[in-house]
Amino acid sequence: MATETVQPGAQNHDSMFDSVLARLDAAARLMNLSDDVAKILRNPQKLVKVSLAVQMDNGKTEIFEAYRCIHSTTLGPSKGGIRYAMDVCQDEVMALAAWMSFKCAVANLPYGGGKGGVKCDPKKLSLGELERLTRAYTKSMSDVFGVNKDIPAPDMGTSGREMAWLLDEFNKIKGEDSPGVVTGKPIVLGGSLGRDAATGRGVMVATICAMEKLNLDLKEVTVAIQGFGNVGSHAARLIAEQDIKVVAISDHTTALYNANGIDIKAAIAYAKNNGNVLKGFSGGTSITNAELLTCKCDILVPAAIQNVITAEIAPSVKARLIIEGANGPTTPEADEILKDKGVIVVPDILANGGGVTVSYFEWVQNKMGYYWPEAEVNQKHDLSMQVAFDNVWNNATEYKTTMRIGAYITALKKIELGVNFKGKF
Ligand code: NAD
Repeated sequence: MATETVQPGAQNHDSMFDSVLARLDAAARLMNLSDDVAKILRNPQKLVKVSLAVQMDNGKTEIFEAYRCIHSTTLGPSKGGIRYAMDVCQDEVMALAAWMSFKCAVANLPYGGGKGGVKCDPKKLSLGELERLTRAYTKSMSDVFGVNKDIPAPDMGTSGREMAWLLDEFNKIKGEDSPGVVTGKPIVLGGSLGRDAATGRGVMVATICAMEKLNLDLKEVTVAIQGFGNVGSHAARLIAEQDIKVVAISDHTTALYNANGIDIKAAIAYAKNNGNVLKGFSGGTSITNAELLTCKCDILVPAAIQNVITAEIAPSVKARLIIEGANGPTTPEADEILKDKGVIVVPDILANGGGVTVSYFEWVQNKMGYYWPEAEVNQKHDLSMQVAFDNVWNNATEYKTTMRIGAYITALKKIELGVNFKGKF
């Protein structure tokens, strides 16, 4: 297994990391962030690239490119998920790690930001291959991860199953049980009740908070949700449970629209028995994913992948409110168009912070060795999201800017204080 520490900060044009920098720079200008702090945050602290040699079921060895990026540890140990996907690359992992630093600061968590990923198509790997890949990744990162150092979690393409393998491998290497080294674990291994649904729950709370600010009536609004995985399906279920009509849903196999409201319980049950995909579900008229983003609705929840609301799509968006369940679904160019149209965007670093908030609760419970009932987790989560939402709203109002830049300002204020208190030398 080869390990290489690559030069952080190298940028490609039109990259995801450039999108982060564009927003960071806009917020920095408005709030007069010190040049030193801006410089520190424009460059991830550490970026590790490894080549994982994994034995496949056919006996042959395959090499997988994998990363872990630590963007900042100013406010605490770095925290962030591990993604298994074909588009994993240095630029993406750097952007996602930076977003974690800002997301944790917005959510008032004592964490910095990190992210990891393996370039692979997990759907094409057998269970045994996935386990060997996860164990190889853990071995290669065993000096990076640590309960008080760098704490991974699931992201796209990974789940509690991979986190259990990671925990087991880490424990074997270190010779002791460290449940707090990873969150999003199965409950029996020290996972937290409420973690599975937490990101979707946070999206629901952010939706309600935004509706209250805009005086929108629960009974009258309609919602369209792109993505029906962990975030999208829980968000859809919890939003529907608030008596809000969900008129469109989608995943990578299909998209559906029903002006009378889609039966979300039925959609979830269908996907569960259909390989976790919606293809073939008959609860609405078939549309394309692009049509979902521009369909007639009041609230749009992109909860699948990045860069879907682009400068081409944004002019046709009909929603008045966008709640970003996914990381980076809106490009900076689209942001400008949406701002001019008066569309309010509740940004990813606020709206999808529910997952890392309950990951933090899991870590706290692991450290205490004492576990809370689900109602307590949910109550603490909802309160934390409401406080974060208000902080961002107030900063956006004070600086006369969008909620996205307001969220960056909220985070940057905290990180700047942390850098100044700790000293730069
Ligand atoms: P997931 O793998 O569980 O689900 C992804 C969903 O998106 C699936 O339904 C998939 O079919 C759909 N999808 C993929 N490509 C699509 C396309 N081109 N068009 C429409 N749908 C498509 O992933 P997830 O955990 O739900 O994560 C979704 C997003 O939320 C990602 O951006 C992730 O980084 C972000 N996020 C996840 C968490 C979490 O706790 N899981 C926390 C914060 C942010």
